[in-house]
Amino acid sequence: MNFISTRNASPPATLSQAIAAGLAPDGGLYVPQQMPAARTLRAGDSLAATATELLQPFFAGDGLEAALPSICAQAFDFPAPLQPLATGNDHVLELFQGPTAAFKDFGARFLAASLSRLRAGQERPLTIIVATSGDTGAAVAAAFHNQPNLQVVVLYPDGRVSPRQAHQLGCLGGNIRALRVAGSFDDCQAMAKQALNDAELQAQVPMSSANSISLGRLLPQMSYYAHAALSHQAAYGTPLNFVIPTGNLGNAMAAVIARALGVPLGRIVLATNANRVLPDYFNGGAYAPTASVATLANAMDVGAPSNFERLRWLYAGDDAALRAAFVSRSVDDATIRDTIARRFRDHGEVFCPHTATAVQVLEQLRASGEAAAETHWVVAATAHPAKFESVVEPLIGREVPVPPALAELLKRPAHADPCPPDYAALRETLLAGAG
Ligand SMILES: *Cc1c(COP(=O)(O)O)cnc(C)c1O
Repeated sequence: MNFISTRNASPPATLSQAIAAGLAPDGGLYVPQQMPAARTLRAGDSLAATATELLQPFFAGDGLEAALPSICAQAFDFPAPLQPLATGNDHVLELFQGPTAAFKDFGARFLAASLSRLRAGQERPLTIIVATSGDTGAAVAAAFHNQPNLQVVVLYPDGRVSPRQAHQLGCLGGNIRALRVAGSFDDCQAMAKQALNDAELQAQVPMSSANSISLGRLLPQMSYYAHAALSHQAAYGTPLNFVIPTGNLGNAMAAVIARALGVPLGRIVLATNANRVLPDYFNGGAYAPTASVATLANAMDVGAPSNFERLRWLYAGDDAALRAAFVSRSVDDATIRDTIARRFRDHGEVFCPHTATAVQVLEQLRASGEAAAETHWVVAATAHPAKFESVVEPLIGREVPVPPALAELLKRPAHADPCPPDYAALRETLLAGAG
């Protein structure tokens, strides 16, 4: 299978080329030239086996095809269990059992496993440029740490990630370099995009992205939705409906693609924080990307969701059809706080601020009857609450135990270099690193 750009001005690429490049040369996002036919998948397989089966058509004919089972085994070596919620027929899908305790571990580990195979035998290292509002950089740094022929430069908005997130970014060292940028996440993302589009710099410093625009992260994320939905369908004979905490739309886009491939997913609802670009669009407004505002759910502080271009492509630019297919709701900080405190007080459940936005949206859908009583809903639990202890602990009045993998990282010393929010400074840093 070949991949084309959402902007239609790049030559078709193989999967390996698309994964290595990140962004298409015309600045667009890679998408499959045609969607694979819907397929029948088995329930009861391991997560890695489901991933292999689901991803096979995308890898068909590619140099990585034979390695797909081993890439999946490497990336999907921790579980994504469904856990019942106290209310309704509802569950959470725990996507946070990996090394950095967020769902991004799956995609980052898949990308690292793919790129390390693609770079085998190359003379110069590949530099992964990653802009992060916290969780991406941590997942990518942990996934790429000590991988030969690969290095990572992480840009994060100084002071806008949690102390534990900052620590995770700076504590690995070796082939991982953290830059704390005096600006917003959108500044970081713009700087990273500019570097990746700088042909002159690329000639001296081979670079790729690891943001959620990368197919190497996006596609594998379909796997946990498929795994959960297949086992649910085997048990109940009905599709599974999801509320997904959403920022750049990478996680939700994977669910959308999985559904298009025949995975038994029902409705996909997008929960955002106070950054309302998506809810405003889905409620009939224009698509109006804007600067992000800082919220408690900081990994979703996105004013210009990068995967929106892919979603629009999937609906062939038909805004009416796209609006009809999704519900999106915004949750403000006060309501996030209330949800975390109340669910703990009433049910003993502890959620990270991102997961709490989706729990809140599901509560609203249940209360209004939009989610009918007999339907089964799942909230994608995108991070472990211990990553956001400074928000969660005061609200629940107790400490959140830190999962062992995260505790291991927090024991290491951390360091990040300051960086002004302009591209020239980043360029200089990258050139100095190459010299
Ligand atoms: C990244 C992230 C999100 C948002 O995911 P997108 O793919 O950017 O929509 C939500 N929650 C957490 C905890 C995250 O790290």
